[in-house]
Amino acid sequence: MPSAALLSLANNDAVKQFVMRYGFSKGLVQRFIAGETLEAALHTAGSLQGQGLSAALDELGENVFSEYEAETAAQSYVHSLQALAAMQIPAPYLSVKLTALGLNLGTAVAAKNLGSLLSAAQSIQGAFVCVDMEGSAYTERTLEIVRAAFVEYDNVGTVLQSYLRRTDADLEILLTDGIRVRLVKGAYAEPSAAAYPNKADVDRAYIRQMRRLLRYGKKPAVATHDAAILHEAKKQMREEKLPNDAAEFQMLYGIRRDLQESLVAEGYLVRVYLPFGPAWYSYFMRRLAERPANIGFILRNLSK
Ligand SMILES: Cc1cc2nc3c(=O)[nH]c(=O)nc-3n(C[C@H](O)[C@H](O)[C@H](O)COP(=O)(O)OP(=O)(O)OC[C@H]3O[C@@H](n4cnc5c(N)ncnc54)[C@H](O)[C@@H]3O)c2cc1C
Repeated sequence: MPSAALLSLANNDAVKQFVMRYGFSKGLVQRFIAGETLEAALHTAGSLQGQGLSAALDELGENVFSEYEAETAAQSYVHSLQALAAMQIPAPYLSVKLTALGLNLGTAVAAKNLGSLLSAAQSIQGAFVCVDMEGSAYTERTLEIVRAAFVEYDNVGTVLQSYLRRTDADLEILLTDGIRVRLVKGAYAEPSAAAYPNKADVDRAYIRQMRRLLRYGKKPAVATHDAAILHEAKKQMREEKLPNDAAEFQMLYGIRRDLQESLVAEGYLVRVYLPFGPAWYSYFMRRLAERPANIGFILRNLSK
């Protein structure tokens, strides 16, 4: 579970100014972020491909508050997909956030921008757009928008977070719809009315939902760095005689490279979530909050 104290520290102006100022120059951010430009991200996607790893490009940015910014984000996402295709990356894959596409301005704005992205993506062979899941205030609207978009476009999927109490029910709905799901534990500070406060409950929910997803999901994505859960996933795939490419393992750039490589060596599909762009602050702070030991990493770099 992410540390609520660390997540709330992310809203402190002094902390933000400090991290933004020294993030790249002191090498704090490069571990988790591919770079501030699309070119940097494409370069990393190319090297990952050389190592047998696929990429999910994520142009960072969330919570825009003007229609202009939301439309610009949609155009920029299309540009990223086209750039991946131009590099001959097979089946280019993008992760997007609906608050970057204008969800705070209304469901209709985000739905329209997502629709124009999916429509453009249709002309790119094998292109796929995964709609990330943000805080629980957005869950219902995100599912509503993705389910409506899926009626017209089959190149869209979304994310479910095991820490939410509602997820078992949401999973059944998406399985029935045939919508591709990426299963994660969840990265936001949530009230206990919405999410399990204990890690053990989250892990149990993850395994329970993963079992359903692997059995009934369309191109399921098991997104975790939890070695015990990965072991369970592989065990289930063996027991149910699913081929190695029946599911995809997804991990974040900069986290558990050892596991990413060993899964590839065992013949599984592995996709690395590759964030890039100047708006890296919130994403970076969520990665720190997931693992307070990462603060030691920051302090070590700052003292260099
Ligand atoms: C591909 C992908 C997409 C994601 N998309 C979303 C999304 O749309 N919405 C959302 O809420 N969350 C998303 N997440 C984040 C997710 O919710 C978790 O916060 C994150 O994956 C950490 O949980 P874990 O499953 O790895 O398990 P944990 O139990 O948190 O961690 C297991 C092990 O992984 C390693 N580890 C985990 N996190 C870190 C870290 N930050 N730094 C160093 N080591 C670490 C440690 O070794 C740890 O013991 C995504 C994660 C992945 C992999």
